[in-house]
Amino acid sequence: MTLDMDKSSHKIGLAANIAMVRERLKKACLEAGRPLEEITLTAVSKTQALEKIEQALELGLNVFGENKVQEAASKWPMLRKTHKNIELRLIGPLQTNKAKQALDLFDVIETLDREKLAAALAKEIVKGAPSIPLLVQVNTGEEPQKSGIAPREAIDFAKHCQQHYGLNVVGLMCIPPANESPSPHFALLAKLARRAGLREISMGMSGDYDIAAQLGATHVRIGSAIFGERI
Ligand SMILES: *Cc1c(COP(=O)(O)O)cnc(C)c1O
Repeated sequence: MTLDMDKSSHKIGLAANIAMVRERLKKACLEAGRPLEEITLTAVSKTQALEKIEQALELGLNVFGENKVQEAASKWPMLRKTHKNIELRLIGPLQTNKAKQALDLFDVIETLDREKLAAALAKEIVKGAPSIPLLVQVNTGEEPQKSGIAPREAIDFAKHCQQHYGLNVVGLMCIPPANESPSPHFALLAKLARRAGLREISMGMSGDYDIAAQLGATHVRIGSAIFGERI
């Protein structure tokens, strides 16, 4: 009884959070003169309990982001048995030895960030793994500790991945430096994507997704604003 009440109150909280995020996105789109349908809400479910993710699925979310292959492998094959039309996106760093597992598990990989990984993915695809859409991660702040391609190399790298490796590169993603205004980083990523002719622009998290939406994001990656603080 108590457990059930607890569950349904969580679901109500989750529904309210999702409604709030949608409302803010709608407002940002209105201000920017963009149709809301241009923006996909990726719910970042890393570290969240299965039960919460199931509630999010029941509430109609169907695009999810995970940052670790292992963790995603422990949750999503099971969830996919009971829920159809899920799109699962890898948003964290990928080791080359997990390339095949990631291609089999995810629908999109957003973190193509180095030549060695492009080669590893291409090798697995040639051997029969699915050629899923990929995004190139751009290190817009050129932070030494952060993965991603430098902005001045991003367009050439994306082309190289398409032409040399035959990879299905469809977009760019970035994680701006934590202690800076994100706007110049979002604007830069959108400009690079336009120049490269790439349709997907993944940028914006719980703290700044409305700014990202205004600056051209096609995918915003939202964790804590939907699920609450991570455990
Ligand atoms: C965790 C994570 C997010 C979501 O972060 P929130 O601030 O909780 O919305 C988005 N993108 C990436 C790459 C992440 O690792």
